[in-house]
Amino acid sequence: MMVSYRSMQDRARDAIALEAQYGAHNYRPLEVVVERAEGVWLWDVEGRQYLDCVSAYSALNHGHAHPRIRATLVEQAQRLSLTSRAMYNDRLPIFLERLATLTGYEAVLPMNAGVEAVETALKLARRWGYEAKGIPSNSAEIVVFANNFHGRTIAAVSASSTAQYRNDFGPFLPGFIFAPFGDIEALKRAITPLTCAVLLEPIQGEGGVVVPPEGYLANVASLCRERDVLLLADEVQTGLGRTGDLFACDHERVRPDALIIGKALGGGYYPVSAVVASRALMDLFGPGDHGSTFGGNPLAAAVATTAIDVLVEERLAERASRAGARLIAQLKAVPSARVREVRGRGLLIGIELDVPARRLSEALLSRGVVAKDTHENVLRIAPPLVIDDETVDMLVSRFTESLRAVEQTS
Ligand SMILES: *Cc1c(COP(=O)(O)O)cnc(C)c1O
Repeated sequence: MMVSYRSMQDRARDAIALEAQYGAHNYRPLEVVVERAEGVWLWDVEGRQYLDCVSAYSALNHGHAHPRIRATLVEQAQRLSLTSRAMYNDRLPIFLERLATLTGYEAVLPMNAGVEAVETALKLARRWGYEAKGIPSNSAEIVVFANNFHGRTIAAVSASSTAQYRNDFGPFLPGFIFAPFGDIEALKRAITPLTCAVLLEPIQGEGGVVVPPEGYLANVASLCRERDVLLLADEVQTGLGRTGDLFACDHERVRPDALIIGKALGGGYYPVSAVVASRALMDLFGPGDHGSTFGGNPLAAAVATTAIDVLVEERLAERASRAGARLIAQLKAVPSARVREVRGRGLLIGIELDVPARRLSEALLSRGVVAKDTHENVLRIAPPLVIDDETVDMLVSRFTESLRAVEQTS
């Protein structure tokens, strides 16, 4: 019998080639093929270990394979996975109660992907505009911000100012008004009597970790109240502890009319998203007005319930605040002519460079750190919130080495 020896390196190359052959080419991943993960660590098919600073864009706040969330998933998978909302299941009500209690809102509408929760909030806001505010039918406007990211559906890209997200996907959905992010005077001018809502990321994540000026969120909230406009906060990426508060809006004690949650709500195991709002607002949806086959399924509900329990009991927001302060301070202290700015809050950190961030990202990868560029010149550092001090310090030293390597080739 002929045995052909295939090295592990061949396995990585084969996986990448197979994906390129059969997959759509709508991503450009870093060249690492992951086969196992735990906590903040990844292992590739060659057995090399990496620190995960992508955290699936904040979907892995709890870390990989959290034992309690994994146990819930396995236990629930053996009992009941899906019913549809044509009937009740025993898990959904517990999840709804837990998320309402966590956020301090009265009503929850569960979906799956983040963008579906965004879509849900947009529909809710338009309906409120007509039925509560009295905007003439089919003329409601929603103010969105330049450089935002709310997902990839036609509605979300209609609300986007980023050329690549929109190019050749028109015609677009009308009713979005663009305002510059961080400028309260410009927002005042953008709001008209036809405005039903302002859709805001409290920190722009995909846009390059853009933190608005101190006081901006509170000013937006009071402007919305004054002008009888709903504030919809897209906390899909910033929520659930990422920025050192439970929600990034908490930093300025802002309570949006609707909170859009996703990513980490699924505990790294399952896509779960939701919109939370007051009972009065949510009751603008009646039976059949909105829905989703998989939204609120018992497996999702069970996993998300445990994800919330872990978030609270393991004080993940507090840990993100501490680890983030340590990491940001150390990153700011690394001397380099290539770094323009280190910014962020908690463990959502952006490093703006004067060279393409992809180069630093590749230098980090060869030193065992996976971190991705976001917006050309910004490297995002967003490890799971369970990262410890020793690992933060290790990350900084590998970052420093990688920066030196980039400097030497530029
Ligand atoms: C990721 C993201 C979304 C979209 O979430 P998906 O689960 O990818 O649909 C929406 N809003 C923000 C702010 C995000 O970061």
